[in-house]
Amino acid sequence: MSLFGSSGIRGLVFEEISLDLALDIGKAVGSLHKKVVLGRDTRTSGEMFKSLIVSGLLSSGTDAYDAGVISTPTLAWAGREFDCGLMITASHNPGEFNGVKFWNPNGLAFLKKQRDQMDKLLRKRNFKPASWDKIGVLHQYENSVSEHKEAILSSVGESDIKVVVDCGNGATFNITPFLLRDMGCEVITLNAQPDGRFPSRMPEPTEKNLSTLIRTVKSTKADLGIAHDGDGDRMTAVDEKGRYIGGDKLLSIFTLQEVKKSVVVPVDASMVIDDLVPKAKVYRTRVGDVFVGEEIEKRKADFGGEPSGTWIFPRHFLCPDGVYAAALLARMVSKKKLSKFADKVPEYPQRVEGFKFDPKKRKSILKALDEKMGSVPCEEMTTVDGWRLQFKDGWALVRLSGTEPKIRLKVEARTLQRVKEIYRSIHSIVKDVLR
Ligand code: MG
Repeated sequence: MSLFGSSGIRGLVFEEISLDLALDIGKAVGSLHKKVVLGRDTRTSGEMFKSLIVSGLLSSGTDAYDAGVISTPTLAWAGREFDCGLMITASHNPGEFNGVKFWNPNGLAFLKKQRDQMDKLLRKRNFKPASWDKIGVLHQYENSVSEHKEAILSSVGESDIKVVVDCGNGATFNITPFLLRDMGCEVITLNAQPDGRFPSRMPEPTEKNLSTLIRTVKSTKADLGIAHDGDGDRMTAVDEKGRYIGGDKLLSIFTLQEVKKSVVVPVDASMVIDDLVPKAKVYRTRVGDVFVGEEIEKRKADFGGEPSGTWIFPRHFLCPDGVYAAALLARMVSKKKLSKFADKVPEYPQRVEGFKFDPKKRKSILKALDEKMGSVPCEEMTTVDGWRLQFKDGWALVRLSGTEPKIRLKVEARTLQRVKEIYRSIHSIVKDVLR
């Protein structure tokens, strides 16, 4: 198994992400790149891991530039001027996790070839230190936030709405509220004190974690609520009626706003997208913003995103940017209420279920699924990530979870009756395979 997941290296502090591994990551990156910028989110282990990664970089003769506590998109934006950027974060995971995301100067995360190369270096561990007179130098890099903010301001423009921003004690505390204020918004902040224990709420910006934001938007009669995850590559929203506007809805709203020719979404995104932009080409990738970003670049697509809340605007940059998304939404809401955008988007019935299996049987399950799913009569089958079957008026997706031994089945259709029919036929295959 590679040390790399779909968003870099991540795990429990001191267990999967040991002090030795952090030092080795610095050495491995330093053996390939000579000028590296680093940032970190607000986690309690961030400073500790930064020191080790910096030591590893310097020992290889690489110059390190410490940009401090910043959001992931801010770090990636700074990375344009460097050989690569390292972000110390576990994104939306709880506080006891940490990890590293690796960024290329164009805003794309390390590609498969680069991930494999890093993985090999980290396993071999035969790093050669620089000679004493070639040891690298550590610099402070202080302008990353203002540079990122200015770039977004000049791209998005002004807004005069009232907005509540919930930073969830994460890394966006020093950018999103200030950016929105500079745009002309009246800003009320929630949880904008950096605290890696995440005392206010869990870092993932899901509806269940945002009850305070929802209440505050209503009680202050704000036009918009914005929520980020721990490192700010994600953004979800609340409309002026206090309704949570999650990833699936925002994906549709941004698609309507941005897409003329083509859009990139993962295989589990709603078919509402296809119906909203019937003239555009919808490309579907594996689940993971890394894959969405790569496909956007390959297809020269107008926009791409994930129902999890990551948004990529290629006219700005290829890194998922929750801060840019927040500014753009504030601009849009200055022209039309968010509830109006949301109500324009249809909602189709869905059913999502998970089925546990014995991890030892993984191989035989995959083989059986491949055989059986391949023989289901359908209009089109996509196998970039599991099996996605397109039917008349609906679709089904069967895939193995990336994080636990579970088969996930998702069905969506225009009517509940069709959801039931499709679910019944695919569920019987899954049951059969697990028998
Ligand atoms: Mg994140």
